[in-house]
Amino acid sequence: MTDNHTIAELAGPKIDTAGSRSRAMRCRSEWMRWRMGAAAVAVVVAGSGCATTRPGDVSQLPRPVKQAPPPAPTRMTSVPRYSPPAPASRSFVDGAPPDWMPPRGIARRWKYIVVHHSATPTGSASAFDRYHRNVNHWDELGYHFVIGNGRGSGDGQIEVGPRWRKQKHGAHCKTPNNDFNDHGIGICLVGDFGAYGPSAAQMASLTKLVRYLSNACGVSPRNVVTHRGVTGKTECPGRRFPLDRLQRAVAGDTRSGSYRASR
Ligand SMILES: [Zn+2]
Repeated sequence: MTDNHTIAELAGPKIDTAGSRSRAMRCRSEWMRWRMGAAAVAVVVAGSGCATTRPGDVSQLPRPVKQAPPPAPTRMTSVPRYSPPAPASRSFVDGAPPDWMPPRGIARRWKYIVVHHSATPTGSASAFDRYHRNVNHWDELGYHFVIGNGRGSGDGQIEVGPRWRKQKHGAHCKTPNNDFNDHGIGICLVGDFGAYGPSAAQMASLTKLVRYLSNACGVSPRNVVTHRGVTGKTECPGRRFPLDRLQRAVAGDTRSGSYRASR
C-alpha cells in the first residue's frame, strides 16, 4: 500500500501552505478591523464624556470653547460732530421788526447813534432822499432811518433807508475826520424841534429803535448823541428835543427790556 501513497501522504497530513497563508491574512485583517472599530468606539465614548459623567456633574463637561471678546466700539473721533453755525452776536435782537435787520447782518463798524430833526414840518424817507440827491448831489438818502410825524409819513413810522440795508457809511454828521459819518448811525425825526417837541409816537419809536441799535451794535448809551452835540455848529435836532430822556430810557433798557439782545 505504500506504493499507492505519495511521499507527501507518507510524510504526514497534507499541509495547504497557500490556504493557510490566506487564512492567516484574513484573520489579521479582521483583527485589524476589530481593533480599529474598538478604538473608534473608545474615541466616541471618551469624546462624549458619557462613560465618566454623573448627572449634574458639570465639572466633567467639556469646557466651552472660549470665544474672542467682541471688539470694543471704535471711537468716531475722525467724524466731525455737527455743530450749528455760530450765531452772529449783534445780528439778532428779540422782538425787532424784520426789516431792521440788514440782509447781510449788522457790520461791526458802528460806534455812535446820531439824532437829527428835519427842520421841516413834513417829510419822509423818499422826500429827503430826493432832496439829498437833487440838492446836495449825494448818492442817496444821507440818514439810515427816518421817523415820521404824521405829515408825509406815519406818526411814529420808522422807515429804513438803503444805507442801513447796505450797512453803508452815513452822510449826516460832517466832522474833520468823518468819524461820525463812518461809524455813526443817522436817525432823522420829521419836524422842527426848535419850535415844538417830537410827538409821543415819535419818541416811543425812537426809543425802541435806539434800544435795538444800542444792543445789536454794541453802542453805549453815552454814545447816543445829537448832531449839535457832536459839531456844535448847528441847532439840530432843536432845543426842544429831550436827549436826556432818550438816554435814560436806553440805559434802563440795556439792563432789562423787551429789546434785549440775544448773545
Ligand atoms: Zn442834523
